[in-house]
Amino acid sequence: MAIVDRRKFTTGLLGLGAVSAGLNLPAYAQGKRPKVVVIGGGAGGATAARYLAKDSKGAIDVTLIEPTRKYYTCFFSNLYLGGLRDYDSIGHTYDALAAGHGVNVIHDWAVSVDTAAKTVELGSGAKVAYDRLVISPGIDMKYDSVAGYSVEGQDTMPHAWKSGTQVALLKSQVENMREGGTFVMVPPPNPFRCPPGPYERISMIAHVLSKKNPTAKIIVLDPKEKFSKQALFEEGWQKHYPGMVEWIPASVSGGVKNINMETMEIETDIDTFKADAASVVPAQKAGAICGRAGLTEGDWCPIVPATMQSRADENIHVLGDASVASAMPKSGFSANSQAKVAAMAIRGALTGSKVFEPRFANTCWSLIDADDGVKVGASYKAGEDKIEVADKFISKTGEDEALRKATYEESESWYTAISADMFS
Ligand SMILES: Cc1cc2nc3c(=O)[nH]c(=O)nc-3n(C[C@H](O)[C@H](O)[C@H](O)COP(=O)(O)OP(=O)(O)OC[C@H]3O[C@@H](n4cnc5c(N)ncnc54)[C@H](O)[C@@H]3O)c2cc1C
Repeated sequence: MAIVDRRKFTTGLLGLGAVSAGLNLPAYAQGKRPKVVVIGGGAGGATAARYLAKDSKGAIDVTLIEPTRKYYTCFFSNLYLGGLRDYDSIGHTYDALAAGHGVNVIHDWAVSVDTAAKTVELGSGAKVAYDRLVISPGIDMKYDSVAGYSVEGQDTMPHAWKSGTQVALLKSQVENMREGGTFVMVPPPNPFRCPPGPYERISMIAHVLSKKNPTAKIIVLDPKEKFSKQALFEEGWQKHYPGMVEWIPASVSGGVKNINMETMEIETDIDTFKADAASVVPAQKAGAICGRAGLTEGDWCPIVPATMQSRADENIHVLGDASVASAMPKSGFSANSQAKVAAMAIRGALTGSKVFEPRFANTCWSLIDADDGVKVGASYKAGEDKIEVADKFISKTGEDEALRKATYEESESWYTAISADMFS
């Protein structure tokens, strides 16, 4: 089936009276082709749509709802920032999902979910029926978590924490900083998308500045006391960018008290820092559609570990950053892994196919300087209440250059593989 524009879309739309309310038998047992709707075409959603369509060999009618026509991965956006990748190389279309796997791709927003009628309402006003719904909308920002920051402020001090053009804006601001200027990074509090991401970003900005603007400084005003792969990053900053990066935890700075966007001043208890360029990444929450569908508890969506089903609605599976995946970090690798577990559970429920014991995996690679890659990762199992660590590993300080280069090359192979696993 081809990609359809929302104005032309008809397949899968439904007169609401056609919903077979009251029939508890699975669709396949009623001789119908079951319908799965996926909201969000990112790491979790694109993978789920692809696996559901591919592995069911057309037995399931899969519809993917995603507003953008090209998805730019946040993963490897730091390498683009560091000048080690071009922007095009991190962009992916939905053409192969539609043409190769028969996924109905609708480019629109999902605006609400009627969990009783089992329909999703689109921005166009059309409704799409589902037997199972998969939601993987990623994160939204809590802009007011940093005093003085705002939606408008993201053009002055880009968070660049969602896929899209913000990272290009940040890149040009870094490259155009005055000689000897100061870059200020304000990382988010836990829990947030990609725990090592802010520190890889600092590394890649240091990589650029060390070449173009070697007397520049990077100040990191962290609301946290520690961070992912801290010893590895600090060792790398000392080795590659001595004296350039100053990381200040909240216990020392007192935390960010206010940001003045006009003067580019960031106020803390110890000092007011004047930035020539800055990136502020606020606290985060599940994408807004999750709250509107009644799936959130606090900021995130609790799930059943073995199937990624929402604790609030057994017909809905929540994937990726929006879910409470306990030990699993919010990462593209995690979202991809959870999507395969959910797709297997959904196929089992809707077509009677065999379901195996779920296994999850994640590795987060980070690049500290060209060819100096480090990683942290784990395999996971579904516990009764939580996803639990089965086995874990992390790079060590003091590793030799050949191993670090091999780790970086491994990350490049991973990027190629996961992109194909989502979009090919
Ligand atoms: C700087 C940075 C570096 C990172 N590096 C890595 C890395 O090296 N490795 C790694 O594994 N992860 C990395 N990540 C994390 C990774 O990008 C996310 O964890 C991952 O994208 C989460 O997948 P998701 O499906 O939950 O959300 P997303 O991939 O963000 O996809 C969500 C999609 O849903 C769509 N959407 C939202 N709301 C709606 C709606 N109402 N209707 C329809 N569509 C909607 C959005 O348009 C979007 O396309 C990084 C993140 C950042 C910011």
